[in-house]
Amino acid sequence: MRQWFDNKIVGADSGDEVDWPRVIPYILLHLSCLFVLVVGVSWIAIAVCAASYFVRMFAITAFYHRYFSHKSFKTSRFMQAIFGFLGATATQRGPLWWAAHHRHHHKHADTEKDSHSPRDGFLRSHTLWFLNKKNFATNEDRVKDLVKYKELRWLDRYDIVPPIIYAFLVLMVGTYIEHVHPELGATKWQILIWGYFVSTVVLSHVTFLINSLAHVWGFRSFETNDDSRNNPLLALLTLGEGWHNNHHQFPSSVKQGLRWWELDISYYLLFMMEKLGLIWDLRKPDAAKIQEERV
Ligand SMILES: [Zn+2]
Ligand SMILES: [Zn+2]
Repeated sequence: MRQWFDNKIVGADSGDEVDWPRVIPYILLHLSCLFVLVVGVSWIAIAVCAASYFVRMFAITAFYHRYFSHKSFKTSRFMQAIFGFLGATATQRGPLWWAAHHRHHHKHADTEKDSHSPRDGFLRSHTLWFLNKKNFATNEDRVKDLVKYKELRWLDRYDIVPPIIYAFLVLMVGTYIEHVHPELGATKWQILIWGYFVSTVVLSHVTFLINSLAHVWGFRSFETNDDSRNNPLLALLTLGEGWHNNHHQFPSSVKQGLRWWELDISYYLLFMMEKLGLIWDLRKPDAAKIQEERV
C-alpha cells in the first residue's frame, strides 16, 4: 500500500505483466463511478463534471504534453509548478513520469521499443501498458531538464496528493452548492462523484485515445515514420491533440492544428496566455516548411 502514496518505493521491475496490487487505486477510481446510481444526477453536477474535465484536459494537453514533454514554449517556474499540480489532479501520474514516457514514445513510435503502439494490441496501447510493472518507474535520464526542479520531483513522487486535494476541493464546491443553492437539487456527494470521479475517468480515457485510436483511425497529412493519424473528433474532445499526425511531424510545435479549420482549443488558450505575458517563446514551424512536407 505504501507504493500507492510514494513512487520512490516503485522498483525498477522489468516485468511485462500487470502489477495488480499497485493498480488497485486505478480500479477503484473506475468503480467509484457506479456511485452515480446512488447519488443521482442534476444539471449542476453535469456542469461541474464538464468544467472539471475542461480545465484539467487543458493542463494535460498544454502543459504535461506541449510544455513538459516537448518544451514548445517557455514559462516561469511558478506557472510551471501551478500547471504541474493541476495536471497531476488529472490522476495520470506526475509530470516527470508522463514526460519521460511520452518522449520515449516519440523516439520509438510504432516500433517494437514503443511502450504503447496499437500494433501490439489496442488495449495495451490504451491502458495496459502503464499498468505493467516495468512502466511504473520514471526514467529520469529522459527528463534531465525537469528533474532539477525539486517541486516537480515532489509532485512526481507523491502524485496521489494533488488528486486527493482536488477531490476535497470539489467536495467543498458541492457543500457550497448544497447549502447556498438548494434549488439546484444537488448534494455534495453528487458533486464529488460527478466532478471528480466521473470527470477523471472520462478525461483519462479520452487522453489515452491519443495513444491508441490516434495511431489507428483518421487521415494522414504527413508521411511520418509511424502510424499517427489526424482525427477531428479526437481533436475536439482533447482540445487539439487529435491532430496527432501533424504533431508527430512537428513535435515541438505549440500548435497542433495547422490548417485554419483544424480546431486547436489548447493553442488558442496558450495564445491568450502569451498575450497576458504568462508564457513566451512559442515555437511554430514556418508555413513554407508545412506546405513543403504535406502530402
Ligand atoms: Zn503518438
Ligand atoms: Zn507528443
